[in-house]
Amino acid sequence: MTFNELVLAHEAAIRLGSFLGVFVLMALWEAAVPRRERLFSRRARWVNNLALVALNSVMVRLAFPLAAVGFAALAAERGWGLLNVFPAPLWAAVLASVLVLDLAIWLQHVMFHAVPLLWRLHRVHHADPDFDVTTGARFHPVEILLSMLIKLAVIAVLGAPAVAVLAFEVILNAAAMFNHANVRLPGRADALLRGFLVTPEMHRIHHSMEVAEANSNFGFCLTWWDRLFGTYRAAARLPQESMAIGVEGLTGRFECVRLAGVLGIPFLGPGRDRAIGHGVASGRHARWFSGGTEDLPS
Ligand SMILES: [Zn+2]
Ligand SMILES: [Zn+2]
Repeated sequence: MTFNELVLAHEAAIRLGSFLGVFVLMALWEAAVPRRERLFSRRARWVNNLALVALNSVMVRLAFPLAAVGFAALAAERGWGLLNVFPAPLWAAVLASVLVLDLAIWLQHVMFHAVPLLWRLHRVHHADPDFDVTTGARFHPVEILLSMLIKLAVIAVLGAPAVAVLAFEVILNAAAMFNHANVRLPGRADALLRGFLVTPEMHRIHHSMEVAEANSNFGFCLTWWDRLFGTYRAAARLPQESMAIGVEGLTGRFECVRLAGVLGIPFLGPGRDRAIGHGVASGRHARWFSGGTEDLPS
């Protein structure tokens, strides 16, 4: 049995082990030294956020029985995608696939902020009134389905190896639990990690109620895309312990921490309020985001 086959044979154990390991570690860290005071009790929010995770997992499994890893194996069998047409050494194909998938997720995240209809769905993630390890997996089921379709399209075009897709999904899941945690790394460790990995101090800025701050730091795993495309923001205007987190106008208990209310968020109020193009973005390309064509550099 090759290493590749060994990893794929233990897919479920690797996923569950990594999820539980990182979840418990972050939950204990948050309980020991919380970064911000909570607005809602952990019990109320966790029941809601984890119910959403369970609902999304069942739904994705029903809609895509093959899932992303199975789809990558099918693409390899049928010879779909660049890396199946022009084979590369496995290590290079895995590295390239993980990088491209991370960039694709970054682009998708920007798109969910830029298109008003998609922002309505993505508001579910941002309307969490507190920011902790469970926020990282709190997404509207329709966003999860769209996100899976985009991932499958990238896999089909790229021909990503199944083991790379598994590695990417496990890394992204662990990174999301880490960078949503209600913890603070020592300043130097935070600065060093930010060279490549999104830290809680960096992603928390993306959850600010201030439009300009929410339209920055779109990365979920690598920090390079925000730095490269000019959407990186090093610090929030206010200290992180006092800055407001969430979506303006979405602060009630029902729509923020009750499953029925959270699922209804896309149908509430205008979706344009915070989408890119209807507010002020940050970074070098702020003018592209914030205005019409008259603002484009000539
Ligand atoms: Zn976002
Ligand atoms: Zn987030």
